[in-house]
Amino acid sequence: MEYNIALLKGDGIGPEIVDSAVAILEKTADKFGHKFNFTPYLIGGCAIDAAGVPLPQETVDGCLASDSVLLGAVGGPKWDDQPGDKRPEKALLGIRSALGLYTNLRPAKLYPALRAASPLKDEIVGKGFDLMIVRELTGGIYFGDRGYREGRYGQEAYDTEAYSVTEIERIGRVAFETAMKRSKCLCSIDKANVLESSRLWRKTMHALSEEYPEVQYTDMFVDNAAMQLVRDPQQFDVIVTSNMFGDILSDEASQITGSIGMLASASLGASTRGMYEPIHGSAPDIAGQNKANPIATILSGAMMLRYSFGLSEEADCIESAVDKVLNAGWRTADLMGSAEGISLTCTEMTEKISEVL
Ligand code: NAD
Repeated sequence: MEYNIALLKGDGIGPEIVDSAVAILEKTADKFGHKFNFTPYLIGGCAIDAAGVPLPQETVDGCLASDSVLLGAVGGPKWDDQPGDKRPEKALLGIRSALGLYTNLRPAKLYPALRAASPLKDEIVGKGFDLMIVRELTGGIYFGDRGYREGRYGQEAYDTEAYSVTEIERIGRVAFETAMKRSKCLCSIDKANVLESSRLWRKTMHALSEEYPEVQYTDMFVDNAAMQLVRDPQQFDVIVTSNMFGDILSDEASQITGSIGMLASASLGASTRGMYEPIHGSAPDIAGQNKANPIATILSGAMMLRYSFGLSEEADCIESAVDKVLNAGWRTADLMGSAEGISLTCTEMTEKISEVL
């Protein structure tokens, strides 16, 4: 198969980690007889320097014309004084909206070899955990009606949580399909004991669950979910939730893995085109020093193969190469503090994963 991939390397460590992911994708293409064509476009601070705006139209057009998008990270101290709409990070909202991405997939996996990195006790995370949060990205309270008004105690501010059946079904389907590709367990998280929008969320998810009889479906209140994530994260496989609950729970889930340089993410819309990126930022403190951990971006590349191109075997192969390299004790500097191992540079880690592939 042949695919066109837009590369948005961005700033700081962005170019280093995207180059690593490209090397691994190219190796995978060779191994399985595919062809990936990579085209770089500017985004973030480097785009401000070259074109005066964080998201040039050429970048948007290039991404829209591609089969999928791989992003490094944007931002850095050089552009911190730019006004709000000229900041590098503004480009992220712009590109997500231009590509119509309404789903965020955030895996949170604790590798047994890295369990010392987790802030949770060994008896809780001894066997590691591997969960996927499916977060609605373009609705709910972050986009609802808001403002100031005169209230009972004088001036007050308000924000509104609103979800339509269409929006809930749309994200629900992504979650059920994701569960079908994993262990067929899905937990929907809401606050249906208090919120009307959550009651509609729950009712709609229940109706949808009838279309997926193979998926073991459960509901949980968000306050309980926040507790269960730190009490027994292994009970979860796929979680689906609203924009705000997903924002909070996905950060909690990534924190309990303990290693920001390992976590990938995908943003998806109605088409198979998605945008894949590590959850971390541009790490200006280590940029240009060959110290960055490329694994989050490499795993983002694996997610692209699985979710945009339907190449599950190829994605499994990359993920298993990462597992093997970690189990053999190879680490980048950010993983050294928390576990025994042999420290590698960004390029050396990429070569190790490539060798195992
Ligand atoms: P950060 O994630 O860039 O860095 C936080 C810490 O984690 C730093 O010590 C960094 O060295 C380390 N780190 C991050 N990724 C690493 C990796 N792959 N390997 C090894 N160590 C890694 O967060 P920050 O310092 O708050 O932000 C830096 C810049 O990144 C800011 O301009 C911020 O706005 C931007 N940012 C961009 C994105 C994005 O592009 N999606 C996300 C978050 C932050």
